[in-house]
Amino acid sequence: MKALLIVDIQNDFCPGGALAVPHGDEVIEPTNALLSEFDCVVQTQDWHPSDHLSFASNHTEKEPYETIEMEYGEQVLWPDHCVQGTTGADFHPDLKTIPSQLIIRKGFRKHIDSYSAFFENDHKTVTGLHGYLQARNVNEIYITGLATDFCVKWTALDARKLGYAVHVVEDAVRGINMNGSVDAAFDEMKTSGVNIVQSKQLRG
Ligand SMILES: [Zn+2]
Repeated sequence: MKALLIVDIQNDFCPGGALAVPHGDEVIEPTNALLSEFDCVVQTQDWHPSDHLSFASNHTEKEPYETIEMEYGEQVLWPDHCVQGTTGADFHPDLKTIPSQLIIRKGFRKHIDSYSAFFENDHKTVTGLHGYLQARNVNEIYITGLATDFCVKWTALDARKLGYAVHVVEDAVRGINMNGSVDAAFDEMKTSGVNIVQSKQLRG
């Protein structure tokens, strides 16, 4: 069975948001158009406490987009975003969320960030998504959402490691793009066996 996995289409990642992905709202229409093609639809929601250590504001003399070393490796410091219970953490109002059957929240532990929908950034702590998809006999995943070079990429790479067939819907993802990170993300995903597809190929 195939699943549609919609990554982090939240107000803070769209234009006007605290950590806006350029043209981030352009992923909504192609994502909405794919909903009827899938019997399994899952969304992720970045969901941080306000004292989360991925926020530059929680470190002295650090600015957003600088990096620090965490116990689990390098961490980019972000502007405060997707704080639990705020409008910024809500799904974009134009995204059709009614068909979603599961919402995986991530990044809710203060000391660890979570880009991937499967594992937090230590690459060990599980979110529970893999167990859910296994229980529903999902073996093929189509990914849309934000951002190509962070949460989409890590979700796709982890899905490949877990043995899923993985497709990233190119016209339904957008990236932050720091120093060419979007092109690098597509290269990395292709190398790991991720298929890059267009939404119109999937609409029957
Ligand atoms: Zn975050």
